[in-house]
Amino acid sequence: MRGGSIRLEGIRKDYGNTTAVSDVTLDIPSGQFVSLLGPSGSGKTTTLMMIAGFVPVTKGAILIDEANVSGLPPQRRNLGVVFQNYALFPHLSVAENIAFPLRVRKHSAAEIDERVKWALDMVRLSGLEKRLPGALSGGQQQRVALARAIVYHPPVVLMDEPLGALDKNLRYQMQVEIKEIQQRLGMTVVYVTHDQEEAMNMSDVIVIMNHGRIEQLGEPRRVYEEPSSIFTGNFLGEANLIRGKPVEGEGVMSTADGRRLSAARTFSDATLSEAAGHFVRPEKISLSRQGAGGEESGTNALHGSVSRVSFLGNVIRYGIDIGEDTLLTADCHNGTQEDVFSEGDAVVATWRSADSLMFRHV
Ligand code: ADP
Repeated sequence: MRGGSIRLEGIRKDYGNTTAVSDVTLDIPSGQFVSLLGPSGSGKTTTLMMIAGFVPVTKGAILIDEANVSGLPPQRRNLGVVFQNYALFPHLSVAENIAFPLRVRKHSAAEIDERVKWALDMVRLSGLEKRLPGALSGGQQQRVALARAIVYHPPVVLMDEPLGALDKNLRYQMQVEIKEIQQRLGMTVVYVTHDQEEAMNMSDVIVIMNHGRIEQLGEPRRVYEEPSSIFTGNFLGEANLIRGKPVEGEGVMSTADGRRLSAARTFSDATLSEAAGHFVRPEKISLSRQGAGGEESGTNALHGSVSRVSFLGNVIRYGIDIGEDTLLTADCHNGTQEDVFSEGDAVVATWRSADSLMFRHV
């Protein structure tokens, strides 16, 4: 089985005066796992449903394996689709649900039998073929939906928040399983989620959507470490943005009380309310007690006092009051007892320029 390639050429969807998706252009090579990630209402589902053929495009073209499918109905696009609510037939058994797309395609009874067995094995549901969906757990129902989507070997599978109804541990387990199946079969997957960790865990490429447009796309680590806008930076995880004004030198900024911070790279962002902002993720910050040394060159350092301690299990999250009404968030690995700070402790927060970015207002 070979994954299909997908090309979106300037696709747009208008609902009356509302533009749900505007001018989305995207190339997805064969065999890639691509997530559409963004807040509610950013146009993820509409984009997916246009690829699936359930929603017609207002403008633009959709190509699958170089063929323009924009005018074709869903069943002629040869795609597998998995929805959040599973959409299983309640009166059909597990095996009959999975066999359904094969019956529609008029496969022989022997072939249906063989392929259903293969799909059941793939999603590890062998032995449950006679059950009705109502007698299955949420995770098992989602496996049936997945089996039904892959049973006819479509080159592209589209998934819309498929794990949305599952609890956290099961979600993670299913993420790993879906990813394994995708890699084993070499299929192309377009996956809609609003869960950042899920997108980062599963995707080759994450497409960040905002207001119906692509805000940024790239490999998970890249977009996490180098967001090209404040929106992406905040959306992908916890982040600090220390406000100030640019001074001489690439990536160098001065805070309101005159402290210098330097960053590896600079991006422009019109949403910034100040002239400049220094961006750093909480886990890149190290804390030490004031007077204990540890400030190195090439490193940003700010003095402050611990004003909040949140125990999150594997991480201890500190709120550090660095003056000027600014609270710096620092995440420290929950290591040994000596490394734990208390409210009121005077600390130095340090981080490398290489781990931070500067945004400039344009
Ligand atoms: P997401 O999946 O990112 O939550 P959607 O694609 O569902 O976003 O929606 C994008 C925008 O389009 C939203 O503002 C939504 O209200 C609007 N929208 C979606 N479907 C319809 C529809 N059938 N009629 C009118 N507006 C719609």
